[in-house]
Amino acid sequence: MKIEIIKCLSDNFSYLIFEEETNTVSIVDPSVFIPCDEVIKKYNKLDFILNTHHHADHVDGNIALKKKYNSKIIGFEDDKDRIPGIDILLKNSQRQKIGNLTFKTIFIPGHTIGHIAFYFEREKIVFTGDTLFSLGCGRVFEGTHTDMFNSLNKLKILPPETKVYCGHEYTKSNLNFCLKYDPNNSMLKKKSIEINSKIKNDLPTIPTTIGEELKTNIFLRYDDDDIKLALNLKDSSDEEVFSKLRDLKDVF
Ligand code: ZN
Ligand code: FE
Repeated sequence: MKIEIIKCLSDNFSYLIFEEETNTVSIVDPSVFIPCDEVIKKYNKLDFILNTHHHADHVDGNIALKKKYNSKIIGFEDDKDRIPGIDILLKNSQRQKIGNLTFKTIFIPGHTIGHIAFYFEREKIVFTGDTLFSLGCGRVFEGTHTDMFNSLNKLKILPPETKVYCGHEYTKSNLNFCLKYDPNNSMLKKKSIEINSKIKNDLPTIPTTIGEELKTNIFLRYDDDDIKLALNLKDSSDEEVFSKLRDLKDVF
């Protein structure tokens, strides 16, 4: 399984997945036609388009790519009326093959009510769209804070070595937010050096891993005593702490 990162718009990531044994080419969240097609052209085919959710910056390449390559578009069943050109409808926990690769559908509402992640169990790779970011999480648009909290907890329990490919390059702003409320986290400080150097060299800061996120991403660390103290929420529940963090980030 080979993954190519495709930068789109100002800060979106689309991902090309190449599976060599059966020469199967897929793309996750094609934001726009041209930058995606520049990469797809090398393979001269596109078998599958995978959409994590219906937002325009994740699906706007769908129709033009499908037209050019006769691809099959895969998305969540409840979003069948919102994902342009959808062909294959997924249910929560459903397994789907793309060539010799198999992913599991993980339903993770919150950012939208039809958001899913694609989890390649054997390869330990997950595409998280706008739910889990490097050092952050997505804004809650259609769902509730409880939805987002539960969705992040589903991702939290994946094996720590799982590589995370998310929908946006938001890492620098997320880092600044994490540092504000978790300033004594030594792993975070270490990671900040790495991130700053990647950004300076115009390199993507992804993939990250579940294990790294558990130690550094404040939205997965709502049960940490230092963070609770920094927020003045010593006796609050995990979900209350998470909700407070999400609200603070909205205005950060
Ligand atoms: Zn979105
Ligand atoms: Fe997005």
